[in-house]
Amino acid sequence: MSTHSRKSVLDCQVVVVGAGIGGLTTAALLAARGFDVLVLEQAFVPGGCASTFRRRGFTFDVGATQVAGFEPGGVHERIFRELGVELPPFRVCNPGCAVFLPGESDPVSVWRDPKRWHLERLRQFPNSGRFWDKLDQLFALSWDFNRRDPILPPVGIGGYLALAAKLRPQTLLTLPYAFRTVADVLRDYGLERDRRLSRFLDMQLKLYSTTEADQTAALYGAVSLGLSSEPQGLFHLEGSMQALTNRLVEALKQHNGRLLTAQHVRTVLSERGKAVGVSVWDRRREREWEIRADHVVANVTIWDLLKLCGNAIPAQQRRRIEKLPEAPGAFVVYLGVDEKVIPPDCPPHLQFLYDYDGPIAENNSLFVSVSQPGDGRAPAGRATVIASSFTQARPWWQTDDYEAMKASYTHTAIERLSEYFPDLRANLLHVEAATPRTFQRFSARTQGFVGGIGQRPRHFGPFSISNRTPVEHLWLVGDSTYPGEGTAGVSYSALNCVRLLEQSLH
Ligand SMILES: Cc1cc2nc3c(=O)[nH]c(=O)nc-3n(C[C@H](O)[C@H](O)[C@H](O)COP(=O)(O)OP(=O)(O)OC[C@H]3O[C@@H](n4cnc5c(N)ncnc54)[C@H](O)[C@@H]3O)c2cc1C
Repeated sequence: MSTHSRKSVLDCQVVVVGAGIGGLTTAALLAARGFDVLVLEQAFVPGGCASTFRRRGFTFDVGATQVAGFEPGGVHERIFRELGVELPPFRVCNPGCAVFLPGESDPVSVWRDPKRWHLERLRQFPNSGRFWDKLDQLFALSWDFNRRDPILPPVGIGGYLALAAKLRPQTLLTLPYAFRTVADVLRDYGLERDRRLSRFLDMQLKLYSTTEADQTAALYGAVSLGLSSEPQGLFHLEGSMQALTNRLVEALKQHNGRLLTAQHVRTVLSERGKAVGVSVWDRRREREWEIRADHVVANVTIWDLLKLCGNAIPAQQRRRIEKLPEAPGAFVVYLGVDEKVIPPDCPPHLQFLYDYDGPIAENNSLFVSVSQPGDGRAPAGRATVIASSFTQARPWWQTDDYEAMKASYTHTAIERLSEYFPDLRANLLHVEAATPRTFQRFSARTQGFVGGIGQRPRHFGPFSISNRTPVEHLWLVGDSTYPGEGTAGVSYSALNCVRLLEQSLH
């Protein structure tokens, strides 16, 4: 963090670094509550991992393709209601996902109707009824607690008192599970050797937590697995994922907030341990400038926060951050295809595992999103197919032949997709791929890490990363903080960040 003073070019009350869903939601809420807010985005378009790009008439969602929290009372719906802006148009995904285990053609369909989903689980995973009943109970208890908007993790005596006020006697029933994983709960019911069920859980949890059943906190797992069912659900946006970002930008502007793109924040400026602004590289004009602000909100990963702040973060906290397990990267193929490739009634989201013994990563498992007729992603008679897989980020930086590695991953992904879409190879109209290097380049996330901190018991809930940073007046928002990744997760993070910032003024 630099402490020397330079002529300031602009003053504002709150400067938000990054226009991902986390940063934009925070900015729009603060603007709606009367703050003078300026958002700086290093890319030329806002949206971060939830943005889109266009090629040959196709619109591709860069990362996020489905959303939670659009139902009445869901986190996005609540926020849009407060902002006075309509939710972007969407359709319900039913099933939320069709999950194909190795060698199987009858998928596990994650139905939205709880009764139908209950029957599907019993059909697909015999003898697992009591396990699912326990997860449903943990979901109900955790969701009930979550609805009271606890601020996690608690900081200071005030934070613990506020948290205690949110507890109810029934919340205590979750306590025995606070330090346990989903795999521990499987063991409780003697199901740890049920390979189909274990791998199904691994695949689904990896999407929401970046960790598998043996590492994912039981309470987090119960919530993420329960969110697909009514009255909650998973949703597919009309047009593209960019619609969510565009509505947030509209709300920001409606409340007199400002957004500047192509502005790369290089340093958070501080004086006597307090953030006072940022120094910025203007990528269009190719010049450095400075903004002075009462508060700085960083919508970056925890690793990038360290880079922005230099030594202003005390050594003890730096060590804690440096010890965090690395996040994964993502490999994604974006395909524009003739619509005859898509089977009739193809669900919008599918998940495949190819080899039971392989990782839920590196193309051994693909999460696939298929555009729906009339959803605005493809011209008439065509469709988009996007397949993503977690991948270790570092090898993509260490390889001697990056292009060959990317071509090989692309080839494997298309081969594997062809098992479900047999006519795929003959009907490809556009092929493009993104690797951790691509994500680093476009979203400025260190190493191209995506998905935040895995929700292990030691990093979940009371032990998660706070919006409050060790530097006064510097706040962190986004998928590194509680409650983790996904557009719904970072929207909760934004709500908490706004409440903490407001509380700090009293
Ligand atoms: C392949 C993939 C698939 C996914 N699928 C889903 C899904 O289906 N559903 C779902 O809900 N979630 C999904 N996610 C996760 C979801 O996209 C993210 O958790 C969420 O969008 C993260 O939002 P964020 O605001 O925390 O961060 P980001 O999206 O990373 O936004 C941060 C923003 O800050 C900007 N920025 C960074 N550093 C600076 C700087 N120094 N100066 C200025 N600007 C800066 C970046 O350019 C970026 O725009 C997926 C993610 C990936 C990668």
